[in-house]
Amino acid sequence: MVRPSPIRASVDYDQEGVQHGFLRLPYSRDDSAWGAVMIPIAVIKHGKGPTALLTGANHGDEYEGPIALLKLANSLEPRRVRGRVIIVPAMNYPAFRAGRRTSPIDAGNLNRIFPGRPDGSVTEKIADYFQRVLLPLADIVLDYHSGGRTLDFLPFAAAHELPDKEQEQRCVAAMEAFNAPYSMKLHEIDAVGMYDTAAEEQGKTFLTTELGGGGSASARSVRIAERGVRNLLIHAGLLEGEIALEPTVWLAMHGDDSFVISTSEGVVEMCRDLGDEVEVDQLVARVYAPDRTGAEPVIYRARMSGLLVGRHFPGLIKTGDCLAVIAVRQG
Ligand code: ZN
Repeated sequence: MVRPSPIRASVDYDQEGVQHGFLRLPYSRDDSAWGAVMIPIAVIKHGKGPTALLTGANHGDEYEGPIALLKLANSLEPRRVRGRVIIVPAMNYPAFRAGRRTSPIDAGNLNRIFPGRPDGSVTEKIADYFQRVLLPLADIVLDYHSGGRTLDFLPFAAAHELPDKEQEQRCVAAMEAFNAPYSMKLHEIDAVGMYDTAAEEQGKTFLTTELGGGGSASARSVRIAERGVRNLLIHAGLLEGEIALEPTVWLAMHGDDSFVISTSEGVVEMCRDLGDEVEVDQLVARVYAPDRTGAEPVIYRARMSGLLVGRHFPGLIKTGDCLAVIAVRQG
């Protein structure tokens, strides 16, 4: 027997109009014996049409998604919608409230834990609800990401290479409509357990982003997030209007060579900035021993030519941290 999700929605997914409510996840603890995690959710529905599922703060320290989605939930008029828009501004709500990538309750990284479990940890229960309740309702799925506290990115929307080329084409078309300044064919370090993979395996048109980072959002990155989701809803037939297209730079990652990984710890000196062109073997960063003078820094070089699209954000770095991400221009 498959166990039902313990999460209860206060919204009715079939009801017309606007609803602001919660996904209530029972969580018994010291300060609230019969308490719950209350994950905000909005549903805007008007007549027949496709369903868009829009999410932010899958990682709790990434802010463009929550900001754009809180604003969208407050402003989307049902009479202008044809279909249904389901908005969850903060998927991993405990992580979001703690300003952390992972949950303070169970250390769960929501984007590495799919398909989740109905009888698992709090984070596993959230994943399971998306896997078995929300994703099956959706036609088009947008999951906003940014670099969080430890990474910073050029603002890009991203689609994955998929075995089903028709589905891949739908995802690329959605990415084109989102129209971030950069559009990326993304290669994951490890795609197992990702929400992306869960949505793609259910055949959904799936789009993700990396819109900035450093544990905050800028006026520019929020504008990109807001324009992108509006464009996407028009593209999906959920909203009327003109898609506002600006030039985008098409990029692709080339497997593991795209990543420069730190093999030392200390103080990092970035020698190239986001958006800079780098050549293969060119100096990207130096890492200095933090505890002495007289030691040579460890030198990090690009393993391929391309554009610097991502970088380690904090001033200190550890062994195994992702130091730089390089992608190649397409077309
Ligand atoms: Zn993320």
